[in-house]
Amino acid sequence: MHTNLLGITATAALVVCLLLGGEVSLYDFRVSITTRAAGLVIGLTPTFLCWMDTRNLFYGACYGNLMVCSTALPTEVHKARIVAHEARHLEHFEAFGLWASFMQYLLPLEPSFVDWADPAVELRQMWRRPIGWPYRWSLLEFEMEAGR
Ligand SMILES: [Zn+2]
Repeated sequence: MHTNLLGITATAALVVCLLLGGEVSLYDFRVSITTRAAGLVIGLTPTFLCWMDTRNLFYGACYGNLMVCSTALPTEVHKARIVAHEARHLEHFEAFGLWASFMQYLLPLEPSFVDWADPAVELRQMWRRPIGWPYRWSLLEFEMEAGR
């Protein structure tokens, strides 16, 4: 079992959210199976949603397996839109690992148009990991060597 730089820094960010009084909950739990040269890799990634007062610095952010959303959002509709947006970014980290932030310059990871009342509008624009695309990152990975 091992983790990696993104796992360590994302966990540190989660701890900072807790220390700053964020309201943290488990969002979902992802299990992946990827074939690599050495054999099978089973990935386990709990994802977390943290609501906190971001002082209007940002409405939402995503890093690794952590989504941070602002309690300053005025309505439940606004909050649902931000969560849907950041949840799509969770997929980007699964697909690219630490390169996810850089990949926004090559792929449409961010929407060009946002409809605050309808998250589906931007989700249609945001890149989605195709079926069969290998997982590049999980919080915890278990490697099972081939031939054993
Ligand atoms: Zn975004």
